[in-house]
Amino acid sequence: MSASLDVRSPFAAVLDEIPLCVDRDEVLRFQGYQKGVDVPDDAVLSLFDEALHIGESLIEPRVVYRAVNVSGQGPDLLEAGDERLHIPEIGRLWGPLEEIGAGICTVGEALEQHVRRLWDERELPLALMLDSVGSAAVESLAEYANDLLCQAAIPGGVKVTNRISPGYAGWDTGEQASLFRLCPGDAIGVTLNEACVMTPGKSISFLVGVGPAARVDHYFTQCRRCWMRDCGYRRAPAALTVRR
Ligand code: SF4
Repeated sequence: MSASLDVRSPFAAVLDEIPLCVDRDEVLRFQGYQKGVDVPDDAVLSLFDEALHIGESLIEPRVVYRAVNVSGQGPDLLEAGDERLHIPEIGRLWGPLEEIGAGICTVGEALEQHVRRLWDERELPLALMLDSVGSAAVESLAEYANDLLCQAAIPGGVKVTNRISPGYAGWDTGEQASLFRLCPGDAIGVTLNEACVMTPGKSISFLVGVGPAARVDHYFTQCRRCWMRDCGYRRAPAALTVRR
């Protein structure tokens, strides 16, 4: 158990004791609000405060992460361990890699159980807002892990790419099983069923590329929510942070 991650850990390393800050804008995005366009009224903000208060008492953020040497790369292919990952344009997007890092994040089951209880009690607006808090919390956690890996890599002259997940950017959801073979989720209580659905539901699996010549920031600027002060490699000003 640890509060830091070794970006080149060959073993499945667990991160807990995470001072996670849930991004309010992310919660509202899950509620359908577009930042800078839709303005939530006082009733919505008060519901958000109540749901955040409940959510923060229920979430248990945990991450498991493991790095695996890359044995082959193609324009749309990464080979590592005994796995072949078919990811469109990954060769161009990530450049040459030495390793890939597979990670799984979860905020646990308790929040989802509370949402179900609220739903049964017909407290629908609060149930929906709490569900959005859970979705935003696990997104913020994945961002936290990505930033922490970047911070850990810099002193060794290594770069860490933006994370990607099965089911996004043309990467087949079915390869979730490969990701779980690279980094099993049991250490943090996350399982995968035959349909490649994770339990608890508020979980995210991700992959990053690692290496001195890895390319970064191909679709968003990872530095925006990173809390590392005076980072000489910062590529964008910090807008807010996912760390308390
Ligand atoms: S500020 Fe950017 S480059 Fe620096 S550690 Fe954070 S994510 Fe990495």
